Amino acid sequence: MSTSIATLNGDKRDLSDELTAKLEASLRGSLLRPESEGYDEARRIWNAMIDRRPALIARCAGGADVMRSVRFAAENHLLLAVRGAGHNIAGKGVYDDSFLIDLSRLRSVHVDPQRKIAWVEPGATLGDLDDETMAFGLATPVGINSTTGIAGLTLGGGFGWLSRKYGLTIDDLRSVNVVTAFEFELHDVNTEILSGPVIYPLSEGRQVLQHYRDFARDLPENLNVWAVLRKAPPFPFLPESAHGKEVVILAAAWFGDMESGKQSLKPLDSFGPVLGTGVGPHPFVGWQAAFDPLLTPGSRNYWKSHNFIDLADDLIDVALDYTARLPSDQTEIFFGRVGGAVNRIPVDATAYPHRDAEYVMNVHARWEQPSEDAKCVAWARKYFEATAPYATGGVYVNFVPDGEDPIESAYGPNQDRLVELKRKYDPTNLFRLNQNIRP
Ligand SMILES: Cc1cc2nc3c(=O)[nH]c(=O)nc-3n(C[C@H](O)[C@H](O)[C@H](O)COP(=O)(O)OP(=O)(O)OC[C@H]3O[C@@H](n4cnc5c(N)ncnc54)[C@H](O)[C@@H]3O)c2cc1C
Repeated sequence: MSTSIATLNGDKRDLSDELTAKLEASLRGSLLRPESEGYDEARRIWNAMIDRRPALIARCAGGADVMRSVRFAAENHLLLAVRGAGHNIAGKGVYDDSFLIDLSRLRSVHVDPQRKIAWVEPGATLGDLDDETMAFGLATPVGINSTTGIAGLTLGGGFGWLSRKYGLTIDDLRSVNVVTAFEFELHDVNTEILSGPVIYPLSEGRQVLQHYRDFARDLPENLNVWAVLRKAPPFPFLPESAHGKEVVILAAAWFGDMESGKQSLKPLDSFGPVLGTGVGPHPFVGWQAAFDPLLTPGSRNYWKSHNFIDLADDLIDVALDYTARLPSDQTEIFFGRVGGAVNRIPVDATAYPHRDAEYVMNVHARWEQPSEDAKCVAWARKYFEATAPYATGGVYVNFVPDGEDPIESAYGPNQDRLVELKRKYDPTNLFRLNQNIRP
């Protein structure tokens, strides 16, 4: 018997059992074939739209396994996929017929509280990182769902609640061990923060979002407030009659002392008649996972994204119009506030070039049944097109759906330098199953 596997040339070859057995014997982790126990678990990713079957999966148990697996892929010219926590919306971590290097079991995080540095393995989730660093009242800016992977997040940029104060995840990345651990700078962050949502009915959306925009223009960097348009979850602090109705959620997180936070957040519930508010002291780690229940793995997802410098009145109207006809109960529109420390970094200092964006809009179309694919995808695409006139033209590489490789809009003026680096370090494009920069 042999293993039929895709190659870098676009065709397939048969790997002899002797060859795969030799690789298997060299690994501390395991080598999974389609018939192996654990194969389905190892190939399953966050977005249920994507269901791919690699030919072989190397479940690495450490750096040596990764080195041996990369060498094996290169020597045999195999189509190579690399998977961290598997959250990529386009499913870039898993490919049909490929050789998959699965890093998802490498989740250790080591913190040096004196030097404020964390060494993070590439399968760690944001929750793993927060859990370890918060034991010392430290954190680094990452995304807003605790189940997202640190590796893919960092490779694309990485922004979340702390970004206005401390920048992108990539801005705090100090070094990368090219086979395994990422080394991050840490910042003092209170283990308990003032945070939570203030919720308004959609009927008040126009004035609420206009007030939000004006308020957010001068936001102190200790504060982040995002606007989320969706159907209301059954929050205990909302009247039952509001559950499932379209709402505008202003989600706030304050990184400073509680009393000043209360003053700073005060205006947020004066933009109209509030339906309910969940603002209060919360554990930082809990807030970092607050959106997890809305973005659980296993649903079908199609995401689109734009960057904005400001929220124009017409853009607000389009967003409200599309929110009034959401294609599914789980679909939502996020306006994530960035700026602050993120935008003080020069455009050419890192691969991430969008240092002008004050908002990243993410359109999360989410649903359960394949029969709803066409309706939900069409809604997201139309909304994306309708909002394009107000956008910068740049796109955050981590929010690009499957089948699209907008390298120019993702990397802008940094593209040429990235091509040069790619030519130097990966001239055969062994690492191509990503938003690919071709050598
Ligand atoms: C629910 C949800 C919430 C999100 N929220 C945010 C947010 O708040 N802020 C934000 O910035 N982004 C956010 N994202 C986007 C997220 O950053 C990307 O989806 C990211 O790609 C996930 O990384 P991962 O390691 O889990 O993904 P994977 O699917 O495992 O990998 C993603 C890509 O990175 C490559 N890769 C992974 N590890 C390595 C490695 N060690 N070496 C080389 N290549 C590697 C893979 O080959 C693949 O191309 C969110 C995504 C989801 C699904």
